[in-house]
Amino acid sequence: MKPRKIPLRKCVACQEMKAKKELIRVVKTPNDELLIDLSGKKAGRGAYLCGKQSCFKLAKKSRALDRALKSPVSPDIYDALEQDFIKVEDEFIAGKETMVDDE
Ligand SMILES: [Zn+2]
Repeated sequence: MKPRKIPLRKCVACQEMKAKKELIRVVKTPNDELLIDLSGKKAGRGAYLCGKQSCFKLAKKSRALDRALKSPVSPDIYDALEQDFIKVEDEFIAGKETMVDDE
C-alpha cells in the first residue's frame, strides 16, 4: 500500500517526525513575541511541538525553543507559553478531528 504524502515536521523537544496536524506550532513574531499558533499560518519563525504537555515540559527543560528559534527564551516566557499550551490543548485535539491535510 502506498502511503499518502503528508507534510512532516520535527518536534523540537522529542525530535520525532510527525504530520503537521499532530504538532502545535510556536511562532516568534516579527515583534519578538512568542505565541502558540494553532492556525499554523502566522508570520515569523516557527517551531513545532507534539500536542501534549510532556513535550512542552521537555522543551522547557532542554531549552529546545531557544535553539529552534535561534534566540534566548526567558523562563517567564516558557511559563506563560506553558499555560497557553495547556489552554489550547483541548481545542487542538478537537480541531485535529476536522482538520484537512494541506498538500
Ligand atoms: Zn514531541
